[in-house]
Amino acid sequence: MFDFCYTACMALTLHSPVSAVSGVGPTFTKQLKTLGILSVRDALWYLPFRYDDFSHHVPIDRVEADSVVTIHGQVELIRSRRSFRKRLSITEALVSDDTGSIRVVWFNQPYLATSLPPGTRVALSGRAEAGLPALQMSNPTYEKIHAEMTHTGRLVPVYPATAGVSQRQLRSLIHECLPLAKGVEDFLPVSVRSASHLETLATALRDIHFPPSPARLDAAERRLAFDELFLFVLNALRTKAFLATNPAPAIPFLEKPTQDFVGRLPFTLTAGQKKAAWTILRDLAKPSPMNRLLQGDVGSGKTVVTAIAMLNAGLSGYQSVLLAPTSILAEQHYRTLQTMFHDTDIHVALWTSARQDINGEPVSRAMLTKEVAQGKVTIVVGTHALLQPDVQFHRLGLAVVDEQHRFGVEQRQQLRQQASLTSHALPHFLSLSATPIPRSLALTLYGDLDVTTLRELPAGRAAIVTKIVNESQRDSVVTIMHRAIDAGHQVFVICPLITESDNLGVQAATETAVRLADGPFSDATVGLLHGQLPAKTKTQTLEDFASGKIHILVATPVVEVGIDVPNATVMVIEAAERFGLAELHQLRGRIGRGRLPGACFLMVSGDTPKDKPRLQAVVKSHDGFALAEEDLKLRGPGALLGIRQSGLPDFRLAQLTDAKLVQAVRGVAAEFLNNDPLLEGAPALAEALRAFEKTHHPE
Ligand code: ADP
Ligand code: MG
Repeated sequence: MFDFCYTACMALTLHSPVSAVSGVGPTFTKQLKTLGILSVRDALWYLPFRYDDFSHHVPIDRVEADSVVTIHGQVELIRSRRSFRKRLSITEALVSDDTGSIRVVWFNQPYLATSLPPGTRVALSGRAEAGLPALQMSNPTYEKIHAEMTHTGRLVPVYPATAGVSQRQLRSLIHECLPLAKGVEDFLPVSVRSASHLETLATALRDIHFPPSPARLDAAERRLAFDELFLFVLNALRTKAFLATNPAPAIPFLEKPTQDFVGRLPFTLTAGQKKAAWTILRDLAKPSPMNRLLQGDVGSGKTVVTAIAMLNAGLSGYQSVLLAPTSILAEQHYRTLQTMFHDTDIHVALWTSARQDINGEPVSRAMLTKEVAQGKVTIVVGTHALLQPDVQFHRLGLAVVDEQHRFGVEQRQQLRQQASLTSHALPHFLSLSATPIPRSLALTLYGDLDVTTLRELPAGRAAIVTKIVNESQRDSVVTIMHRAIDAGHQVFVICPLITESDNLGVQAATETAVRLADGPFSDATVGLLHGQLPAKTKTQTLEDFASGKIHILVATPVVEVGIDVPNATVMVIEAAERFGLAELHQLRGRIGRGRLPGACFLMVSGDTPKDKPRLQAVVKSHDGFALAEEDLKLRGPGALLGIRQSGLPDFRLAQLTDAKLVQAVRGVAAEFLNNDPLLEGAPALAEALRAFEKTHHPE
């Protein structure tokens, strides 16, 4: 009997399914699956998101109403009964210690009457309420008192849970798995660990779940936060090192044709654009791959800077690709570049899933594949659709990725494989981003990139007035919308994501479009744009908006990514309080693109005075970087633009804003790589890094 148990316990490994853990039945197994917990290892990595501090228990006569307390006592009486009217089971108990007794009530846990019989010593944690005739505790967490306390001890872990799963179940499961934590391999090399005074991974995992003291919890959190940053930084540094060891085509700066091209533009470049172009051209001329980020506020004119680089690549016989996250954006870039390179030897093609086109002429996929492979096309603008192994470039010298955070490492690798350069050579990489990343974050985030920032907008932009309005002012907003339409201009209405289930905001936008078209704007044309529409519909809607056929475009925040309709002068942002400041600023950047003055209305729903000061910042400032800094201060890096949207890594413990820790980790990582660039002495670390790459590059 004893032997059998011994073997059964030993049989549990990190890879065992959770169903092998004692006390885990089929229903719980299914529920755990929805939380992503399949194995014992998963359970150990399911980290608490906070702790209840039940660290000291109080004598019963000191318990105060409305306080959260832990008491230790003995069950004197206990019984369960059913309340028929409410179809509820009620378990009542009297628990006492040396100083007094307290009434305890549990709902719908009738079995407690048998599992906590009179005489049982229990610890109870929860809120004490004023009751009649005396204090009582309702639904406290309970635990029989024994040496090691799981549910009520000191710092009690609270896990992210889902409907149907109780904290108690999760705690018990993880507690059962905890002995296996010592089998978790520590991927951090001993040298790194000791230099930074870190716990072992096994200790950290154990203590993060059931911290024996606040100090040990700190140490555990520090270790796990260090890991997240270390892997992130190491990954960035390795990318940088990898790029440095490979050659790239040296593309010379051709002064005369560049000047001619710039001279033909309908505007003069800003000083920032000239400087950025110059920096990029200098990178291209080097025989090692450029890996640069060009960041600049919406409308700062990144496209033309890119065009100058692509021109120089093309004149030296190298192709360029411009990758956009949506077909809408790809189409827009295609039109822009076609205009810029009209009447030149630079041939521009479009490649989206819906459309293939060269110099304005539709072509078949096979035809375009051939033209690209033979080098007859100089610049290919496209979406993910062109990332196919059978699409081979003749000589890809420059890859530009717009909204770079929408693409992952695999896509970059794929592009490199399509490049067909001589052995080992890599194309130059230029990433574009309109997400203003505060300087304090840039170092961490873009450790592998060189960063160029366009800080000024081209001159001559008309002012946009921003106003915070509420429902009672909606009529005057409608009047202004009508006036804009009558003047031949256009209007954006942006709807936010309302519910989690409707995570693209499709429902809100659709309803709004119907409400406007059936109501105050029955005489105007209302269009609808959201991410779930077929690509063809999106393109058509956008073309109709650009050509003025559609007067009001109701859209989800998808328009944020780069629509250029200079004739749009009014924007209404519904439920503006749901957006981050930098995000509102980016949305607002869609109007006032031309020389027409514009108005942006931030519609706040209900009485939300607390949001007003925050939104005031958008009214006052037109500096995306300053607003991003403000977001960072107010809402933290995760909320900066929504984690997924901004491409910020989804760290569980590390604070990207903890500049000191980030610096320290960078130092340690750099030194480690210096000694062992290929991680030959640290196979476990190499493995952890591979897993990290997978989880930190969605899409
Ligand atoms: P973004 O940086 O947001 O991608 P774009 O490249 O789309 O900005 O440029 C926004 C608009 O500004 C375009 O219509 C473009 O033609 C125009 N533009 C770009 N540079 C200048 C400039 N130096 N002067 C005036 N207009 C410019
Ligand atoms: Mg752009």
